[in-house]
Amino acid sequence: MAMLFEAWQGVQGRISAACTACARKPQEITLLAVSKTFPAADIHQLYQLGQREFGENYAQELEQKATELADCHELVWHFIGPLQSNKTRIVANAAHWVHTIERSKIAERLNNQRPAALPPLNVCLQVNVSGEASKSGVAPDELLVLARNVAQMPRLKLRGLMCIPEATADQVKLAKQFQLLKQCQDMLNAHGFALDTLSMGMSSDLELAIANGSTLVRVGSAIFGARPYLASPPEQEQ
Ligand SMILES: *Cc1c(COP(=O)(O)O)cnc(C)c1O
Repeated sequence: MAMLFEAWQGVQGRISAACTACARKPQEITLLAVSKTFPAADIHQLYQLGQREFGENYAQELEQKATELADCHELVWHFIGPLQSNKTRIVANAAHWVHTIERSKIAERLNNQRPAALPPLNVCLQVNVSGEASKSGVAPDELLVLARNVAQMPRLKLRGLMCIPEATADQVKLAKQFQLLKQCQDMLNAHGFALDTLSMGMSSDLELAIANGSTLVRVGSAIFGARPYLASPPEQEQ
């Protein structure tokens, strides 16, 4: 408990310092605790400390934890993993957010499967900001069409954009990828969208992401510690 608390506070301190450095307010940044592979008991502890937003990558794991933690009424679940057609129903039922929409077909399934009793599902479009063919995400020049399609789906609420940049130690190259996502948001908002969310930045690069306009950082290992071996790093989860 004490270690989890200290790590969580440490990440909040990093967010505050990053905001100070670029004259932003910490309240502009949502900390998403990425809990994939960690037990529901860890999530429950953080919830009791006041953390509300949690991210999961695997549909079945999300479903299981959401059931286990059903008593945590203010807990907000974000699905941030690659989403296959055969898993959309689980996610449409269990999640409050999905960050990884990259094609209309998956969005349509979520739209059709979102239970009527629940509010619309918040969604972000994942953009391929590195240009690597192997990466997930819609190409920037196909983004406007996808955004227009998704915006017409009544059971989805288009909130923003998400990216997983190419893993690189080159800070300039990394910053350019974050800037591209920000430019995509500006472009869509100039076309009349009202996107308020930029989901970018992880344990190793949240400062750079905040300096470049992130509103939501997805932080796993800096809070929960190193993941067990079965979890591959995000760039291999595509
Ligand atoms: C696992 C994961 C994270 C968290 O990564 P850390 O480096 O542990 O902070 C963030 N985003 C996505 C999409 C992930 O899969």
